[in-house]
Parts: sequence; structure tokens; C-alpha cells
Amino acid sequence: MSDAVSPTPLPIVRGLGGRCPRCGEGRLFQGFLTLRARCDHCGLDFAFADAGDGPAVFVILIGGFIVVFAAMVTEILYQPPYWLHAALWLPLILIVTLAPLRPIKGLLIALQYHHKAAEGRLVERRSDD
Ligand SMILES: [Zn+2]
Repeated sequence: MSDAVSPTPLPIVRGLGGRCPRCGEGRLFQGFLTLRARCDHCGLDFAFADAGDGPAVFVILIGGFIVVFAAMVTEILYQPPYWLHAALWLPLILIVTLAPLRPIKGLLIALQYHHKAAEGRLVERRSDD
């Protein structure tokens, strides 16, 4: 276990690639969306990582816009039958939701690490302030 910290912060590249936000070498994910307990290269504990519903929200908003916009344009221009709409948009929904889910989760965790984001905590006020 080394304490290697890259001098160049590349949270976007590391997150999108599913790599450790500190060293950029170790893998972040164990399965499709399951995080490893710690980095297998630098030993960073991934217990801090909590993307919550963030990846799903971005995927829903971005993917929803792409599919709805494409379906509307197709309907306005060509008026295809409904079975063709289903044949076109159902596979596209799977592609635009499943493909970016993991990179976006990695990105949010890398940005969380980079910006040291955590839950808010109450701090006791000092009397000399
Ligand atoms: Zn690492």
C-alpha cells in the first residue's frame, strides 16, 4: 500500500474511467455499480463515497431529454406507426440510461473526493467570536 498522490488533480478523467480518485490507478467499482471497500493500489478507503441518487438523477434528466426529443422530432417529421416508435426508443432508453450510469457515479464520487464534500456537521461556536 503506497501513499502515492498524483500532483495533477484529474477528478473528471479518473471518475469517468472508474478509477480511484486519489491515485487514478486502482479500480473504483467491484461490480457494475458496487464500490470496492478500498483502492487496491493506494489503499484509499472508499467509505466516504456516497453518490446517493445523483447518478440516477443525471441519467434520467439527460437520457430522458435525448429520447423524448428524438421521439418528438421523429413523430413530427415522419409520423411512423407506434410499433416503430417502440422498436426505436425502447432500446435507446436502455442505452442512454445504462451506459452512462457507471461513469457518472464514478465522476460524482471523484468530485466528492476532490472537493472534500461531506455531510454538514454542527460546529460549536467559540465564545471569543
Ligand atoms: Zn487509489
